[in-house]
Amino acid sequence: MSTFLGMPYAPRGVGHLRGDDPFPVAARTALANTQLRRNLGKATATIRAKRAAVVAELPDWEDLRAAGQAIKQHTMAHLDQYLEQLESQVSAHGGTVHWARDAVEACQLVTRLISETGAAEAVKVKSIVTDEIGLNEALARAGITAHETDLAELIVQLGHDRPSHILVPAIHRNRAEIREIFLREMAGVDPGLTDTPAALTEAARLYLRRAFLSARVGISGANFAVAQTGTVCVVESEGNGRMCLTLPETLITVMGIEKVIPSWRDLEVFLQLLPRSSTGERMNPYTSMWTGVAPGDGPQRFHLVLLDNGRTAALADPVGRQALHCIRCSACLNVCPVYERVGGHAYGSVYPGPIGAVLSPQLTGVEDNATLPYASSLCGACYDACPVRIDIPSLLVHLRARHVEEAAAARRVPSAEAVTMAAASWVMASPARYAAAQRASRMGRVLGRQGKIRRLPPPLSAWTTARDAPAPPAQTFREWWAQRGRAGGAT
Ligand code: SF4
Repeated sequence: MSTFLGMPYAPRGVGHLRGDDPFPVAARTALANTQLRRNLGKATATIRAKRAAVVAELPDWEDLRAAGQAIKQHTMAHLDQYLEQLESQVSAHGGTVHWARDAVEACQLVTRLISETGAAEAVKVKSIVTDEIGLNEALARAGITAHETDLAELIVQLGHDRPSHILVPAIHRNRAEIREIFLREMAGVDPGLTDTPAALTEAARLYLRRAFLSARVGISGANFAVAQTGTVCVVESEGNGRMCLTLPETLITVMGIEKVIPSWRDLEVFLQLLPRSSTGERMNPYTSMWTGVAPGDGPQRFHLVLLDNGRTAALADPVGRQALHCIRCSACLNVCPVYERVGGHAYGSVYPGPIGAVLSPQLTGVEDNATLPYASSLCGACYDACPVRIDIPSLLVHLRARHVEEAAAARRVPSAEAVTMAAASWVMASPARYAAAQRASRMGRVLGRQGKIRRLPPPLSAWTTARDAPAPPAQTFREWWAQRGRAGGAT
């Protein structure tokens, strides 16, 4: 049983955090898609180069990273206190705060809030947390249409697709594919549409303007929320978010509880770290902030939904809670050799890449995303790139250990791996047994081709499904050593 701010509860539904196929199966399919690998390779290389250039401009970059890490550690240690402060400040400024324990509760809440306005449509700022809870689908079931207004999210929505990157959800699509989607799905689009960036953007602009001008409800996520004043902050590059946040009469913000920060001084640190790490810019083109409701200016009804959906369970793990420090910059995705080759869909979660591999299993329970912590070579590039110094490689190892321990505890009979390890321990405990085992292993040479064994029988097949095993040598080390001794070569 998990707890939510001290109260016991059983999570019901976690939205889009579980894949249909486990990572190894989905990754194999993705690797066969050469177009996907080309699109990803080009896009991640471009973003990496931009990030490296703007990070190099700051002599105190490492100090900023350390400051970001310290603020997050402090906030997580006092999360209950800062959330209550945020609630009281938002309420004092005319907003309404709601608490949602899980995806089901959050979707029901937002659906009810929109229904109460009488609207059947809403415009949305790009928001991963609403993807996490499957909000669009829940609204559609209630007869409410949610229009994505971020260009990449719009491409994903019109293509009946799933996001594959935190920052660039349509990174797996190239211009020609986007043009096809627009021609097929966008009502009233110019049939002579070309695939130049300017033409595609103009088509999206015309399409979205109609939605902006008629929508009475806006839905957003939040990058940060300042407990000190109750101010919510959204950063973006296109200005479409600003339209969603200011034009509708009602604004509903869904925010994971880990997004709260104590003060404006802390916000200063993150507003330097985030744009440089995400889009490779010195600052975000649009930084929108609002505090409750301002009479006669912007939305006149503001609802803030504070979402748990597994976060307090992650917080309870003293090592795993680091994943809640994430500011969703996506730098770890762009440097990850695994992500670059398989793309975001293989992770089966709205949080792909290294951060998805450590966050999703904690939000759902490790057993529900058990393969994700293994989706890494542990090269450490993600740790070096992370603006808040999340030690993702250590977290991956920690979650692998948790998975092994939880699986062992749930099993009545020992696993094949445990039996193999026990047998290896018995053999290695005796020099005579070890030497006999080495001699016996030479029989494995019949399976080898050019020094490698490509397929072993179960349970050893678990190794050879992903990599080759070296064929045993013709002579063991002990035999070689003894031979050298006889020939007078040993020193
Ligand atoms: S884990 Fe770090 S690098 Fe990755 S998205 Fe989160 S903040 Fe960015």
